[in-house]
Amino acid sequence: MKAIQIPGLGEISSCIKCGACCRLSSPDLFHSDSHLIERGNIPIKYLFTMREGEPYKNPKTRKLDHLKSDIIKIKPRDEEIPSCLFHDEETQECGIYQSRPSVCRAFKCWDKRQIDPVKTSPFLTRKDLLGETGMWDLIQEHQKRCDYRKMKDYAEIILAEENQEMGREIVSMLSYDRSVRDTAIEKGKMDKDLMDFLFGRQMIVSLPLFKLKLETGSMGKQILTRL
Ligand code: SF4
Ligand code: SF4
Repeated sequence: MKAIQIPGLGEISSCIKCGACCRLSSPDLFHSDSHLIERGNIPIKYLFTMREGEPYKNPKTRKLDHLKSDIIKIKPRDEEIPSCLFHDEETQECGIYQSRPSVCRAFKCWDKRQIDPVKTSPFLTRKDLLGETGMWDLIQEHQKRCDYRKMKDYAEIILAEENQEMGREIVSMLSYDRSVRDTAIEKGKMDKDLMDFLFGRQMIVSLPLFKLKLETGSMGKQILTRL
């Protein structure tokens, strides 16, 4: 059995429940986790979707990268604290231990090979959980109109040449992204906590990663400017 050195704790070859892996980030969900959602062990309101093309900091290269497919994750504690929502800071215990996702079951910090089979299996998708419902049609429409790959292309043009037309395209994208959520909550009477699962995180949050910000100009008009 492999072992690793943990600063201050020495060599370990089994879990000492330090909670470090749960504090660093929340888990990705794979297809094999679908039963946990379907049975209600992990309610959907505790999940969020990182959408295809969404920018993120690649932990391996430490550079900005863009997701190749959607990934559904358990929500972090909040925007500032990346630790898993189910991690108890005081006891270092998992609030859903018996129903924890496959990646949490397989992760052994002293032997990372154990996690490889999980990481090469398919990610859980929104379609797996929602099926071909009217909501899925709306999600597809949102994905088409709020495509992060288009946002990346528009942002690159804006940064290169101050292109106002591309700026308007992004403002319109952000506006649709906001209105689809407002409509689902107000007219569809949906729980606001479901929005980050259905439509991903609000696109406006990612603007700084594209080196852009939204300002309100004279007459209340929203304008996109460089960060
Ligand atoms: S698997 Fe996680 S909780 Fe267990 S010892 Fe390693 S880092 Fe700590
Ligand atoms: S689900 Fe449980 S084991 Fe997995 S990261 Fe969250 S607290 Fe840790």
